[in-house]
Amino acid sequence: MGAGGGVSARNGMEQGMAEIADKVMAGGRISDAEFLALERDADLYQLAFLADAIRRRLHPEGLVTYVVDRNINYTDICISACKFCAFFTAPEDPSGYVLTFAQLEQKIRETQELGGTQILLQGGLHPDKPLEYYEEMLRFMKGTGIHVHGFSPPEVCHFAALSGLTIAEVLRRLIAAGLDSIPGGGAEILCDRVRQATAPRKCTADQWIAVMEEAHNQGLRTTATMMFGHIETAGERLEHLRRLRELQDRTGGFTAFIPWPFQPDNTALAQQVEIEKTTGMGYLRMLALSRIYLDNFDNIQASWVTQGPKIAQLSLYFGANDFGSTMLEENVVAAAGVSFRLSEQEIRRLVVDAGFAPRQRLMDYTVIV
Ligand code: SF4
Repeated sequence: MGAGGGVSARNGMEQGMAEIADKVMAGGRISDAEFLALERDADLYQLAFLADAIRRRLHPEGLVTYVVDRNINYTDICISACKFCAFFTAPEDPSGYVLTFAQLEQKIRETQELGGTQILLQGGLHPDKPLEYYEEMLRFMKGTGIHVHGFSPPEVCHFAALSGLTIAEVLRRLIAAGLDSIPGGGAEILCDRVRQATAPRKCTADQWIAVMEEAHNQGLRTTATMMFGHIETAGERLEHLRRLRELQDRTGGFTAFIPWPFQPDNTALAQQVEIEKTTGMGYLRMLALSRIYLDNFDNIQASWVTQGPKIAQLSLYFGANDFGSTMLEENVVAAAGVSFRLSEQEIRRLVVDAGFAPRQRLMDYTVIV
């Protein structure tokens, strides 16, 4: 596969690096050892070169997609108390909220008036709402005709634990009530050492994978995420990516991968452990490494919500082909002190300015505008 521009991927590379680059440029799959070699030895330009070549091979038409949607966090009450979370309220704290169905409807109508097509529906792990409550919520929301991209694997596991049902049965009921697709939230790092240390009450790595596998087997498409830049090692980042790549090999159900760095402000984890915030370059390196390793993922999203518009533009040259969502409302990252906001018009301008053609899409990456 040609890289274009008369530039060789081998230029300036050590022998080992050059062999990995040749493999990537030929469309090959890198091994775990090769990932770690790239992570350790490749410079920023080399990673960009390889990730961009893959992006151009998969998306030669030069489009950058985005979805117009809104986050709705139906409750902030949560029993999990994840140390990296600045959003939740403990069940015994009276300041917690649960949105009424009338509030849900108003948010959905506002989204639809702005040309929005979907709701990213996620919430805390509420201690006592039965599964019937979420089924009723879905049926109510589907009455508006909106696509519901909702209930990440920790929520599905929580519903299963509270109801005494299996993950498969919970998913069957949620799908019957109108669930359209599942967001990849709650993955953080799919390694139980990290999960035990940061979110011991949340689902395990195996459970997260099991929810996604079952969802794919029941016909739902889902996304995958990674929150990195806290206590994990390079090997644990690799373990995360490996588990995603293996599942994608089995099911092909993931539409996209979305990595973003941990936002430490206002979190318990940042008070307990000294954590250096991931820099823009650190983010771009991880983005490119993900694009290179996840050869069976069609789409990689830039995270302008955590990185801001300028790094998001650069992301399009480090493997990303999608600008994510307009996020008409975003509460979780905002709680960690990050408050970038972009209108659809600004997203389109940023994409054009970076040299691409912006296109609005649906969750399954069907282009609509
Ligand atoms: S990340 Fe989710 S599960 Fe964890 S405390 Fe926050 S709201 Fe609860």
